[in-house]
Amino acid sequence: MTDAYDRLLNLLHSHHLICSVEGLLGWDEQVNLPPGSAAFRTEQMAEMARLAHAAATDPEVGDGLAQLEQDTEALTEEQRVVVREARRDFDRVTRLPSEFVTAKARHTSAAYHAWAKARADRDFASYAPFVERHIALAKEEADLQGWGDRPYDYAINLHDPGFTAERISTLFAELKEGLVPLVQEIDAMAGNAPSALKGFPVEAQRTFLREVTAQLGFDYEHGRIDVALHPFCSGSGLDVRMTTRFHADEPLDSLFSSIHETGHGLYTQGLKAEHAATALGQYVGMAVHESQSRMWENQVGRSRALWQYFEPRYRELFAAQLVGISSDELYREINAVRPTLIRVDSDEVHYNLHIILRFEIEQALFRGELAVSDLPEAWNDKCEALLGCRPSHDAEGVLQDVHWSGGAFGYFPSYCLGNMIAAQNWNQARAVLPGLDDDFARGDFSRLLDWTRREIHHQGKRYETLELTEKVTGSPLSPQPLLAYLRNRYGEIYL
Ligand code: ZN
Repeated sequence: MTDAYDRLLNLLHSHHLICSVEGLLGWDEQVNLPPGSAAFRTEQMAEMARLAHAAATDPEVGDGLAQLEQDTEALTEEQRVVVREARRDFDRVTRLPSEFVTAKARHTSAAYHAWAKARADRDFASYAPFVERHIALAKEEADLQGWGDRPYDYAINLHDPGFTAERISTLFAELKEGLVPLVQEIDAMAGNAPSALKGFPVEAQRTFLREVTAQLGFDYEHGRIDVALHPFCSGSGLDVRMTTRFHADEPLDSLFSSIHETGHGLYTQGLKAEHAATALGQYVGMAVHESQSRMWENQVGRSRALWQYFEPRYRELFAAQLVGISSDELYREINAVRPTLIRVDSDEVHYNLHIILRFEIEQALFRGELAVSDLPEAWNDKCEALLGCRPSHDAEGVLQDVHWSGGAFGYFPSYCLGNMIAAQNWNQARAVLPGLDDDFARGDFSRLLDWTRREIHHQGKRYETLELTEKVTGSPLSPQPLLAYLRNRYGEIYL
């Protein structure tokens, strides 16, 4: 039995190494690639994808699993987790015929370019057939996986195992009930003054964000941060790659997206590196990943306590830019609330309404209650109802997100679920770690990081998201901690 288990580990390890190289090529494509080398890189990536698929579908993996499953009693509890999740992965990948995988990859590439052009031209009609085809492919994939009667649930489960559209609907309905009036109250008080932070030299921004992220606990011996068009975090625990972008007139955008990615990076670095190839060293799902990034970005990064520590250094680096801006005004800038049509530019008070909008639309699409051709109108109506503003063209409406061009349906809810989990975890952390504010004001984030390591990161994929959240916090997932946190943080400033 031990031999069979070790053989399985070797196969999983080989697959993990191939995927990590594939990920590195993807990172490099966005950070370093000379423009003339794009076609060659596409070829390299396609070859890596082929190798990864071959490793994942290797019949030896199936044989090994079948052998180990004959006597699960002989396995340790940890080994059973590894076998259970390896079986899930193996079945998922082998159930899809290679013609389907190739057709989907080809369509995804075409749809991405169609989306980019449609967004630039503000022309949804030219992109609509690509979305229709992606929905058809998503339904076909669900069917192949045995989820034919619940294709949207299947899509959700790809990102967050254990969730259903029904469960999310219940959570979002409760969130919406509390959030809509809170947003209206805050909007009425917040005004819409433009930011006073202008002309922040990029080199000093880089210095500051590097100091902040290192102090939060990011290990630069096993990771780095570079510049790319969009911020993201990739890699595995021994080599994490984060990106950011700089604008002299939007210094907080760069800083907080970097802290956000650092939250992802801290989770990745907290997963057990020696188990990186198996479920014991892999993240639970996108919602939990997002809960880590959001907590560091928002609950921690925008707190008074953290700024008590970092403000003197910020003023030292940006003395000229901060002349005449008081500590209180800086704190208000950091927690500015300004309604926007664009999800990625949204503050955390409005953010979840952007997600609820997308979730309701995806559900209607998958149920066949909404035709793709009617999407722009449906989007704009919902936007007006939820956020109180109407897009004047589709680039600031239905065409703003890249997700559907990649066939990534059921992905948006993860962002909002992540916010809920972050708030619930944060409550728990504050209950069991009294004095966190004092720690932060001294620049010490280690007790919080250690707690997340122990409670969340080291669990790998042992539990699904809902189960893990309940284990960590002692209560089932609920939107109430998020509502209470938002009312508390932003009520104190604006109400
Ligand atoms: Zn994120």
